[in-house]
Amino acid sequence: MLRTILLGPPGAGKGTQAVKIVEKYGVPHISTGDIFRENIKNGTELGKKAQEYMNKGELVPDDLVCDLATSRLLQPDCADGFLLDGFPRTVYQAEKLDEFLKEHDSRIDVVLNLAVEKEELITRLTGRRVCKVCGASFHIVSVPPREEGVCDFCGGELVQRPDDNLETVTNRIDVYDSQTKPLVDYYEKAGNIATIDGAADLDTVFGDIVKAIGE
Ligand code: AMP
Repeated sequence: MLRTILLGPPGAGKGTQAVKIVEKYGVPHISTGDIFRENIKNGTELGKKAQEYMNKGELVPDDLVCDLATSRLLQPDCADGFLLDGFPRTVYQAEKLDEFLKEHDSRIDVVLNLAVEKEELITRLTGRRVCKVCGASFHIVSVPPREEGVCDFCGGELVQRPDDNLETVTNRIDVYDSQTKPLVDYYEKAGNIATIDGAADLDTVFGDIVKAIGE
């Protein structure tokens, strides 16, 4: 059983580490950002509502996100644990999540806090390119695809996320500092947070995550 939250600013590597955690521990990966992007792609009402906030780098309203996340957590594949990525993002969301878990006799085992400096976040995010088809993530300098603009894994087209331009990235980091960073204190008080140096190489970061979770 592993019930965990990946916390950290945009660009800290949450998505990349999530893939490795899911592979090792077999828990479902719940990314509210991915759920919103899927809804935008499919043109749903939820997608339309979320898109206006996302494109500006602002947070989608708490109640919308909380309903979405808790209904996902009620699905049977979450019975033996889950990995939350990008949720909660405000103290209000964290309180709602705690209430929900308490009602279901559950709790968070460990919060994994990936820490990375602002300059590095900007470099990572503005250079990120993602595959339109399979979602794989590349970076124009540090993880370039074999052929420019083409996914190594499925041959799909690589594009920049609409919220990865410099202006939106800067806003997303500011929003993180003002609204999400207070969660570090929140979980420190709860006593179940592990802070990990997210600037190290991928395998070192993952090694530290495994140490924090336990084999
Ligand atoms: P992410 O893929 O986690 O970087 O999320 C992309 C965008 O989706 C964010 O910049 C927000 O606009 C929105 N979003 C995702 N998760 C949340 C959340 N927990 N609360 C509010 N907005 C969210």
